This record gives sequence, structure tokens and C-alpha cells, in this order.
Amino acid sequence: MDRTTLGDFELTIVSDGTYVSDAGAFFGVVPKTMWSKKVTADSLNRLNAGLNSLLVRTGKKNVLIETGIGNKMPDKMVQIYTQPARLLDNLHAAGLAPEDIDMVINTHLHFDHCGWNTVRRGNQVVATFPNAKYYVQRKEWEHGRLQLERDAVSYMSPNYDPLVESGQMVLLNGDQELLPGISVKVFPGHTAHMQAVIVESGGKSACYISDLIATSHHLDLTWVMAFDLFPLQTIESRKKYYARAIPERWLTVFTHDDATPWGYVERGERGKLALKPCLSEFSPDNL
Ligand SMILES: [Zn+2]
Repeated sequence: MDRTTLGDFELTIVSDGTYVSDAGAFFGVVPKTMWSKKVTADSLNRLNAGLNSLLVRTGKKNVLIETGIGNKMPDKMVQIYTQPARLLDNLHAAGLAPEDIDMVINTHLHFDHCGWNTVRRGNQVVATFPNAKYYVQRKEWEHGRLQLERDAVSYMSPNYDPLVESGQMVLLNGDQELLPGISVKVFPGHTAHMQAVIVESGGKSACYISDLIATSHHLDLTWVMAFDLFPLQTIESRKKYYARAIPERWLTVFTHDDATPWGYVERGERGKLALKPCLSEFSPDNL
């Protein structure tokens, strides 16, 4: 389990496990001759993708950013993607029960980002984190409800509609600070209203950048996933992100990287983007 401190906050990567995804879709128009130097695909051209959530302990509140795939996917989806369902075990290993989470932030509502928002209990779907307020952009939720041909498969109503109906999920209108040191900022590209989460304490910053830069292999402006609805906006959003994150040395968190959950993006020789690893402070004795 990767853990570090950021000012007064403690950050922990809490994973829902790894699932499989089509490698071609992950790298969009990038030829396999190029991406296969960085990742290894299996005989069905699939790669292992991480499901990294970020737990922020501010000292007063426990904030969980993203909730993985969850445990209630339909059988067909499980066959395609697998369903590791490790998040609650890993949260427990980090010392927390679902009741301890005060705030859940979803960057967007694709099934691999909000699956553990809810669980089935008998015939009902209920909040996994009963004491938490959940946050997402209103327009992201509205888009999911349209069930458009292109991406209806990504939006599964039980992951969020019961929470909106009960008032437990708050629908946001644009960039906003949710707690001192925890704010959201919309970066269009993957979806029109995907929000990143910026964490700031003691003059240091980290950013859960979500699918704008899904893994450490997606740093290059043009390495854009085929899933992205607005690839040209992804490029512009990455430029905006790097313009702050590189000079201010933000710790960038990668949702779908199964090996490198976070690091510092740097501009190396001839402007090439590279990642400096973040040393984790985890030791088993700390648990
Ligand atoms: Zn994703």
C-alpha cells in the first residue's frame, strides 16, 4: 500500500484491484509498435489496469476519491473486465471502515470509477459509505442519464441514482472548494465534465487527475485513450494541467496504472515529459 504525507494531510493509495482492458482502446491512435514497448498485452491484446482510489486523511475528515469497479456488475461485464472487488479490504488494511468515510468524490460516473458508491442489500441498492456525502459534477450526471449510443454502456444508474434520490450525492456546478485543501476542477476531454481533485496542504499539492492522464504511460500530449469523447480537448486540458503541475511540483495520481500509482511529472531533455517516482512512506509496522 502506497502512502505519503502532504503537509498536514496523509495520502494513501487504496486499490480496488486490477481489471483487464483492451490495450488498443487504452492507447487510442498510438500504434502497438510504440505502446508495446511500455506495457505487455496478453494473447487477447488486453492489459492489466489499476483501479487506484486515493484516501486523504486531513486530520478532521476522511476523504475517498473514486470508488473503483465495485461488486455489482452484470455477469457479461464481469466476463469482459473481471471484477476484483478489493477496495473495502484495502480500506480496512489502511485502518478504516466504510462508516469512517466522510466524503466521496467521483471524478466522473463511468462504471470503473464509482462502482463501490453503492452495494446491493436484498432488493435495494444502498450507500456503501453511509456517513459520507458524495460529490460529482451535475452535468456529468445529466450526461450519463441521457444514455447516448456512444457511451451508455459506461453509465450504470445503480452506482449513483439512488444517492441522488436520497440527497446523499451532491451535484456540483463547476470548480469548487469542498473542504479546506480539497477542491475540484473540471478538465474536459475524457468526458465533457470530468473533474480532477486537487489536494493542498502546507504549501504542497497533489492532484487526482483521473482519466485525463490515466497511467504514467499517458503523459505525452498525444497519447490519448480511444475512450475519450473529446480527444482534442484532452490535449488542451493536459497542457493546462502541466502548466501548473510541473512548475509547482504537484504529486500526480494515476487511476489506472497498476504499477506506478503516483509521481511527479517533469520536463526533461528537449521538453520530453518524464515521471519522477514518489517514494512511499509505507511500512508494514505502521499498520
Ligand atoms: Zn477510467
